Amino acid sequence: MHTGRIIKALSGFYYVEFNGALYQTRARGLFRKTEESPLVGDIVDFQIENVTDGYITKIHPRENELVRPTVANIDQVLITMSLKTPAFSFYLLDRFLAYVEAHDIEPVVVITKMDLADDDDLIDKIKDTYGAIYPVFFTSQDEMNNDLLNIFENKVTVLSGQSGVGKSSLLNTLLPELELKTDEISSALNRGKHTTRHVELVDIGGGLIADTPGFSTIEFTEIDKYNIKYCFKEFNDYQNQCKFRECMHINEPKCAVKEALQNGGIKQSRYDSYLAIHEEISNRKERY
Ligand code: GDP
Ligand code: ZN
Repeated sequence: MHTGRIIKALSGFYYVEFNGALYQTRARGLFRKTEESPLVGDIVDFQIENVTDGYITKIHPRENELVRPTVANIDQVLITMSLKTPAFSFYLLDRFLAYVEAHDIEPVVVITKMDLADDDDLIDKIKDTYGAIYPVFFTSQDEMNNDLLNIFENKVTVLSGQSGVGKSSLLNTLLPELELKTDEISSALNRGKHTTRHVELVDIGGGLIADTPGFSTIEFTEIDKYNIKYCFKEFNDYQNQCKFRECMHINEPKCAVKEALQNGGIKQSRYDSYLAIHEEISNRKERY
């Protein structure tokens, strides 16, 4: 019996990496009976049958999982945001951050298209808002930020971000052999760029990365209005000091989060994003 990670799933086969070799395995009847079927990223026990074949006997409990792409046990999500075209949005970035936090995954902020920079105040505000909370990297297609190359070691990474920010371009720069179609190329070929691809974890800088860019829009369907406050990481430095344990940091007295907002410990734009998402979730619940 061996333990490895599924890095690819195709036509009923799960490709398990173990000791630098790839094994083509199947999940036998065991899993068909249960709800759970193996996912790319799963750590599994498997039995080798022939030299390179085998079958999975057990799926280890998952740390987390995403739907787009469907990958389990992700260590970090690179949230890609362009400085321009499409315009940088603090609110949108906060949505992505909260969503990733809600899935128990570490976010890394990657600001793309720095070659288009013409507003130093914006760049300063981005650094000021996120620099103390998350790793933030600035990069562009023709001048790759080489510090980015060092963040993959021993981690499973997924790339996300709204359409057009340069996810495919970034993946192509990092992994030229992938040859992902970017906007430019796909419109030149006049066909949609969202042809279905099977997600596969590929080697990058001593770790693994999903070869398909992930989710590009955010819906907070699985999170309730009582828990979204925990998805704003810096709130956690304060919210256990609020007078009311169930404080939502909106109208309650003696709220430590609102105090932190006054003295700069929490940024206004972050708090505004929290209020907006909280309201969105509250309104959704009322419909049921
Ligand atoms: P995706 O939808 O997030 O995968 O974005 P793409 O990688 O397809 O890129 C969208 C468009 O932005 C394409 O026309 C790219 O050529 C362009 N682009 C990507 N990265 C950069 C960059 O760093 N600077 C500039 N100016 N354009 C970029
Ligand atoms: Zn509070």
